[in-house]
Amino acid sequence: MAESVELPSRLAILPFRNKVLLPGAIIRIRCTSPSSVKLVEQELWQREEKGLIGILPVQDAASDAAEASVGSMLSQGVGSETGGDRSSKAQSSPLLDFMILIGSLTQAVIIGFVRGVAARALHLSRGVEKPSGRVTYIVVLEGLCRFSVQELSKRGMYYTARISPVEMTKIEMEQVEQDPDFVALSRQFKATAMELISVLEQKQKTEGRTKVLLETVPVHKLADIFVASFEISFEEQLSMLDSVDPKVRILKATQLVDRHLQSIRVAEKITQKVEGQLSKSQKEFLLRQQMRAIKEELGDNDDDEDDVAALERKMQAAGMPSNIWKHAQRELRRLKKMQPQQPGYNSSRVYLELLAELPWHKASEESEFDLKAAKERLDNDHYGLVKVKQRIIEYLAVRKLKPDARGPVLCFVGPPGVGKTSLASSIAAALGRKFIRISLGGVKDEADIRGHRRTYIGSMPGRLIDGLKRVGVCNPVMLLDEIDKTGSDVRGDPASALLEVLDPEQNGTFNDHYLNVPFDLSKVIFVATANRAQPIPPPLLDRMEVIELPGYTPEEKLKIAMRHLIPRVLDQHGLSSDFLQIPEDVVKLVIQRYTREAGVRNLERHLAALARAAAVKLAEQDQTVPLSKDVHRLATPLLENRLAEGGEMEMEVIPIGENTHEISNSYRVASLVVDEAMLEKVLGPPRFDDKEAAERVASPGIVVGLVWTAFGGEVQFVEATAMAGKGELHLTGQLGDVIKESAQIALTWVRARATDLKLTAAQDNSLLEGRDVHIHFPAGAVPKDGPSAGVTLVTALVSLFSQQRVRADTAMTGEMTLRGLVLPVGGIKDKILAAHRYGIKRVILPERNLKDLAEVPAAVLSSVEILLAKRMEDVLEHAFEGGCPWRQHSRL
Ligand code: ADP
Repeated sequence: MAESVELPSRLAILPFRNKVLLPGAIIRIRCTSPSSVKLVEQELWQREEKGLIGILPVQDAASDAAEASVGSMLSQGVGSETGGDRSSKAQSSPLLDFMILIGSLTQAVIIGFVRGVAARALHLSRGVEKPSGRVTYIVVLEGLCRFSVQELSKRGMYYTARISPVEMTKIEMEQVEQDPDFVALSRQFKATAMELISVLEQKQKTEGRTKVLLETVPVHKLADIFVASFEISFEEQLSMLDSVDPKVRILKATQLVDRHLQSIRVAEKITQKVEGQLSKSQKEFLLRQQMRAIKEELGDNDDDEDDVAALERKMQAAGMPSNIWKHAQRELRRLKKMQPQQPGYNSSRVYLELLAELPWHKASEESEFDLKAAKERLDNDHYGLVKVKQRIIEYLAVRKLKPDARGPVLCFVGPPGVGKTSLASSIAAALGRKFIRISLGGVKDEADIRGHRRTYIGSMPGRLIDGLKRVGVCNPVMLLDEIDKTGSDVRGDPASALLEVLDPEQNGTFNDHYLNVPFDLSKVIFVATANRAQPIPPPLLDRMEVIELPGYTPEEKLKIAMRHLIPRVLDQHGLSSDFLQIPEDVVKLVIQRYTREAGVRNLERHLAALARAAAVKLAEQDQTVPLSKDVHRLATPLLENRLAEGGEMEMEVIPIGENTHEISNSYRVASLVVDEAMLEKVLGPPRFDDKEAAERVASPGIVVGLVWTAFGGEVQFVEATAMAGKGELHLTGQLGDVIKESAQIALTWVRARATDLKLTAAQDNSLLEGRDVHIHFPAGAVPKDGPSAGVTLVTALVSLFSQQRVRADTAMTGEMTLRGLVLPVGGIKDKILAAHRYGIKRVILPERNLKDLAEVPAAVLSSVEILLAKRMEDVLEHAFEGGCPWRQHSRL
C-alpha cells in the first residue's frame, strides 16, 4: 500500500492516453513509442533503485472542445510568449503537445491545476529486440500520490515537469479527520463499500479479504482504490483525480460506489427475471429461431412458413360452412404457434389438410338427365338382368323428377361376379356422377366407419370421410361393398354407424370422430352390395331395398361372354378380334369345363388368360417374323412356358404370297382362333365335367344334395358308410349344430321306419346292432350348416342300409321333421342353377317351394325336371331308380 512519499521537485512525465492512474491503483503498460522507451530506459531501467515517474492523463485532441479549452488555457496561462494565431501557438509550445491532450481538464485554466499521479515502478521487463533494433518495455506501476504540474520541459525525447505535491500532509489529514462532516462521509462511504463487497462476494461465491481493507486503509485512500477498480468514464476519472480535498473525494467515491452497486443489482434482477421467464419451450423457440436464421443463411430454408400459408389458402378455397370455418381457423391459429418439430404439429397439420381437401361444397355437375340414354347405357353394360335394370331405371326416373328425393338405398344381393359392382358404377355413369367404392368386408371396428378420435396416436378418419376426400365431390355414388360382411365385436358395431349414414334424417350431419365437425352426406347416393341378405342386421336391411341378382345360366354366361367380356378383355390386352377370336363353342367349353360359378368372374379370368397367351404370341411375333421369312411354325418360348406341361402348340404365321421366297417385309398376322387344344394348353386340363355326379354316386350311401352359400347355390355330396361298432353316429366335414341335429333326426327317422322300409327283418329292430354309422360332407375344410340337408341325409342312410344306389342325375334339398314331413327351404333359384351347372337333370324340392320356381329362368327349368315332395317317402320315391320299392309297405 502506498505510503506518503517524498516527491522530488522534477519528475519524468509519461502520458497516459484516455486513462487516469489513481493513487493506490496498479497498472501494467507496454511502452513502444520511442519517447516512452527512452523515458523508461533513462529514468527506470538504468537506475539502481526503483525510480518514480509522473503519469499524466492525456486525451486525444480529436474534439473541438478539447482544442478550445486548450486554447483558453494557453492564452491565459503559458502561451504569453507566442500570442496571435492559436494554431501557430499550438505548434510552437512544447507544453502544447501535452495541453492538447490534457485539454479536457475542464475548469483548469492555470497550468498549476494540471494534475498527475506520481508512480513507482514495481516491475520492469524488456521485450525481445526486433530486427529493426526497436525495443519495448513492460512496466508495472503503482500510483502513489497526486501532484500538480508547474512547468513542462523536454529532456531529450521525453518531457519532464516541475511539480508540487497536492496531497495533504499527515498533520493536515489528522485535522480533517476530526471534521464531523468527514466522519459522516467516511461512515457512509464505508457502509456503501461494505455493501458492494458483500454483493460481489456473494455473486462470485468467494469470501476474500477485501473487507479487512476497509478497516486498515485510510478512507481517503480507499476512495481512490475503489473507484480505480470500476469501469468509469474518462471524465469521471479526471474529476476523481482533481478531487484533492478528501471530503470531496470521498463524497464522489461514495456516489460512484453506490452507482456501481445499483447497476450490479439491476443487472442481477434482469438476469433473474429473464432466466425465470425463459421456459424450456421458449428456449427451444429461441434456439429454433436461431437455427432457422442459420438455415436461411445457408440457403437451406425449409419453407414451412409458405406451407402454412398455402394450407390457409387451400382452406379458404374449400368453401366450408361458416361454423366449420371458424373451427378450422382456431385450429390453424394453434398450428401457427407451433414449431414443426413439436409433437402434435403434424397431426394438427394433417387434420387441417383433411378439412381443406374435403368437398364441403364441390359437387359434380349433374348433366341434364336423359332416361333413355341411361337405359341404353345399362343395356350396353349388362346383359340380361331385365328386372334389375328396370328397377334401376325406376329409381333414376324418380331422381329425375325429384332430384333431392330421399329414395331407398338400393342393395344388390347376389353371389360374386354377377355384376353388382358394375351395376352401381353404371348408375353413377348414368347420373354423370363420380363413383367411389368403400369396401366394408371384414370391418369389425366402428372406428372404421366413424374414424378414431384425434386423441389417439395414428388416428384417422373413417372410410366414408376418407372416400369423400379421395373422390373430391360431395355428391358421388358411393358403393358400400359387402355390407353383409361387417361384424361387431368389442370395438363397437359398425352396422349401427352405417344406420346413421343411411338414414336420410341423420346423415345431413354425419359425425366422424376424427373430423369432429358434422359433414353433410345427404347429397351422396348410396348403393350397397351383399352376397346374402340374411347376415345384414334387420334395422340396416330395413333402410335398404334389396335387389337380388341370381347367378347366371350357362346360356346367359355365354351371351355375357360374347357381348361384353370378350370385347373388354381384348381391349384390356391391346388386342382386337382381328387377331384373336374366341368362338362361341370354345367359350361354352370354358363355361362347362373350367367354371362352375354363379357369376362370371372366373369366366372373365379364363378369357383373360387366353388373351394374355395371345398377347405374348403377338409381342414375340413382332421380333420373329422379319427374321424368319419362311418360318411357318413359330417358336414362342414364353408361350411354351405358359402352356400346360408337355404341351406343344402350333400357330402359323403366314406371310403374304405364301409360296414365294422373295424377301419381303410385309407380313400379315393371321387371326388366331382359339380351339380346344389351345384351351387345354393355356387353361390346363378341364376341371369339371358332367360325369362327376355319376362317378361319385356310384356306390350306395352317397347322395347329391343342394346347398346355398355366399357363392350362390352349390352341389353338396353326402356320404354315409357303416362299419363294425357300438351303434354310434360319427359326423365329419366341419358341421354346425343345426346340420348335426339334422343328421340325428335323419338317423332316428330311418331307425323308426327301418321295418317299414324293409331295411331289417320284420321284428328285428336292431338296425345299428354291432355297427357304427359315419356320415361325411366332403370339402371337409368348408364349414357347413343349415337344416336343408335333412332329406339328403335320410336318403343317404336309406341307400346305405338298403344297399341301393341313388340316381346320379338327381339332386335334392329340403328340411325334414321328425315325423317325416318335408319343409320348404331358401335359395331355391340358386340351388336349381347350381344343379343345372353340374349337369343334374332332376331336382327334388319341398312341395311348398313350388312358388319359388317362378324366379328360375325358363331355360333352366326346361332342362331340369323338378320333383316335388311333401313327405320323406316322396323324396325316397324320386331318388331311387324305379321309385322306392318299399313304399307300399309304409303305413305312414
Ligand atoms: P360383383 O360386384 O357382383 O362381385 P362385378 O360387378 O365385379 O361383380 O362383376 C364382375 C365382372 O362381370 C365385371 O367385369 C362385370 O362387368 C361382369 N358382368 C357381370 N354381370 C354382367 C352382365 N350381366 N353383363 C355384362 N357383364 C357382366
